[in-house]
Amino acid sequence: MKAEIVSIGTELLLGEITDTNAAYLASELPTLGIDLYYISQVGDNMDRLYEVFHRGWSRSDILLCTGGLGPTEDDLTRETIAKLTGEKMAIVSEMEKELRAFFGRRNFPMPENNLKQAMLIPSAKALPNPVGTAPGWFVEKGGKILVAMPGPPRELRHMWENQVRPRLLQRAKAGILVRRTLKVTGISEGAIDELCGELLRSTNPTIGVYAKPDGIHVRLGAKASDEAAARALIYPAEVKLRERFGQYLWGADEETMPSVVGKMLQERRLTLATMESCTGGLLANTITDVPGSSAYYKGGLVTYSTDAKVANGVDPEVIQTHGVISAETAVEMAKAARKALKADIAIGITGVAGPAEQEGKAVGTVYIGIDHSRGSQTFAGKYPGTRLDIKNRAATNAIFQLRKTLLDLQGT
Ligand code: ATP
Ligand code: MG
Repeated sequence: MKAEIVSIGTELLLGEITDTNAAYLASELPTLGIDLYYISQVGDNMDRLYEVFHRGWSRSDILLCTGGLGPTEDDLTRETIAKLTGEKMAIVSEMEKELRAFFGRRNFPMPENNLKQAMLIPSAKALPNPVGTAPGWFVEKGGKILVAMPGPPRELRHMWENQVRPRLLQRAKAGILVRRTLKVTGISEGAIDELCGELLRSTNPTIGVYAKPDGIHVRLGAKASDEAAARALIYPAEVKLRERFGQYLWGADEETMPSVVGKMLQERRLTLATMESCTGGLLANTITDVPGSSAYYKGGLVTYSTDAKVANGVDPEVIQTHGVISAETAVEMAKAARKALKADIAIGITGVAGPAEQEGKAVGTVYIGIDHSRGSQTFAGKYPGTRLDIKNRAATNAIFQLRKTLLDLQGT
């Protein structure tokens, strides 16, 4: 089956929002064995929307559309589908009841404009939207499918997962694709390629190697008639790769470096604290993105000024002797955080996020200090990019280094 995606909204064409809906749907379609040939973006204009729908309807089997299902004048998706199919929209009383109930629950009078969200054409089925007001449309006509989903990404995902994906899965005949991603770090892309060896030439599963901010991702993808059969194809290749990657392998699929390191801390019954300067709390934020991080994360101090560092236990002499931007200060910050927050292990970060150099240290220079009961380590980094890039890289690398320290501690 050939599919295309149509993202609707003038905001997209003005560059005000990024088309994450299309990217999301595009990443989902291979898992259903559906080929994606085109992605279009079109503004809130009926003529142009009709043109895009008309072309898509004639060349593809499935049209997946997002946006333009709101109640306002410029939400034209429904009207345009009616024009495309030559059918008339009519209010469905069941849908009207639900819509009024939705507003009722919020103690909000329903604007009459919203009534069009209770309309359908004869060849459309309504897709419920429990997280928003606009139901979607699932249109089937002449062997083709057109699905209209809401623009807000949360609503789109909910509708896709619960309503659309299951319907398309029933119809998918070409077999489904299952993916598995192995995540490695501390080794170059070329070396990973070598370790993959003969597996790189395999066609089912296929193997792809991708460089990402958190290391290198090795993606296995297998196609089969059902999920179990696809998993059975992936399994032996995954076992081989896991063996070859050894300690470089740190996670799989949805696992993130902070979630993996959190698990390590929890298994070892260790608590963590942080003291940050140049990252301004980003490290604490990254750590607390993981659900359940309260089990091991004691907290963090953002000590941006020298005064704040000293007030929280950093030895002023260390700063005076080595400078604020130094490995010595980073470790001293870790020590102070460990003490102040009574943690087993702590991270200190100091550096130059830019755009101007500081204390003669170039933009992007970052020092990370890690302190624990058996001693301390420091790491120096030099990152390219904008202020935000540098902060992100520094926080990511701090977590990497924490993992390394935990592995080293385990080895001793
Ligand atoms: P609403 O009822 O909110 O008007 P809608 O179905 O009419 O929903 P739009 O008006 O097109 O959807 O978009 C609403 C919001 O959803 C946009 O302001 C934007 O924040 C987000 N959005 C829409 N389309 C996309 C897209 N393709 N990618 C990411 N976000 C999107
Ligand atoms: Mg809208």
